[in-house]
Amino acid sequence: MTNADTPQPASWESINELAAAVRSCTDCGLHTSRTNAVPGSGASNAKILIIGEGPGLNEDQQGLPFVGRSGKLLDELLAEVPLSREDVFITNVVKCRPPENRDPLPDEVASCRPYLDRQMQLLDPKVIVTLGRVSMLRFHPTGKISEDHGKILEWEGRVLFPLYHPAAGLRNPAIKRELQKDVLRLPEALEEWARLSANASVTQ
Ligand code: SF4
Repeated sequence: MTNADTPQPASWESINELAAAVRSCTDCGLHTSRTNAVPGSGASNAKILIIGEGPGLNEDQQGLPFVGRSGKLLDELLAEVPLSREDVFITNVVKCRPPENRDPLPDEVASCRPYLDRQMQLLDPKVIVTLGRVSMLRFHPTGKISEDHGKILEWEGRVLFPLYHPAAGLRNPAIKRELQKDVLRLPEALEEWARLSANASVTQ
């Protein structure tokens, strides 16, 4: 997979500077209905970047990612590995809540893309965990979440690890079981990054 079409991200110098820009952003229509933009939170040196689709009601109210029931399930899944919020950075493809929790529209994803691109530059994660279809398509445009969830893939020298969205797991017990099974492969995804990294240094 390549990312040749990625626009050059704006040069926010830090995660905090970027977060301030997100909070005052009016670059797409989602700013008109938001209470708070949700830039993301977590460790600035995290090896794992977790990317959901967009903030929900609780996230919009609090300005923080994954603080509702989906967030509770995400915390439970991370604890299985075991990891906590302090070990990862969590954000979304769009930083403002789509009305009624609908999928973000392509133009909204495109408007918000420079923020996510710059977050990836600043955080330099080893493993990108996507939650749900919209987030996976950002990196794997031909993917199908029903087929690709739990697979350990490569994306531009990093490991891409697509998972179902926790909200889907809350609605469907079979998907929740898949999530619980898939997340156990997260240590394997980190090992894969170490292997990729070692191979890259041998070929340089
Ligand atoms: S969703 Fe992204 S591009 Fe749209 S207003 Fe919010 S921060 Fe700006």
